[in-house]
Amino acid sequence: MVVCDLCGASHEGDAPPLTWSLSMEAGQAKRFCDSCTREHLRVVEGKLDLSRGW
Ligand SMILES: [Zn+2]
Repeated sequence: MVVCDLCGASHEGDAPPLTWSLSMEAGQAKRFCDSCTREHLRVVEGKLDLSRGW
C-alpha cells in the first residue's frame, strides 16, 4: 500500500501509480497522489511566476 504524504490518500499495491509523484522536501522523499501533484505543480508554477515578476 502506498500513501500520499500530503492528504493521506492510499493506493493498493507496492508501487504508486504513474500519476503520483515523488518530491524531495528538506531531504525527505514525499509522495504526492495525482490530485496533490496537480496542486503541488500549481504552487511551483506560482513560485516561478512570482520569481519572474521580481
Ligand atoms: Zn494527496
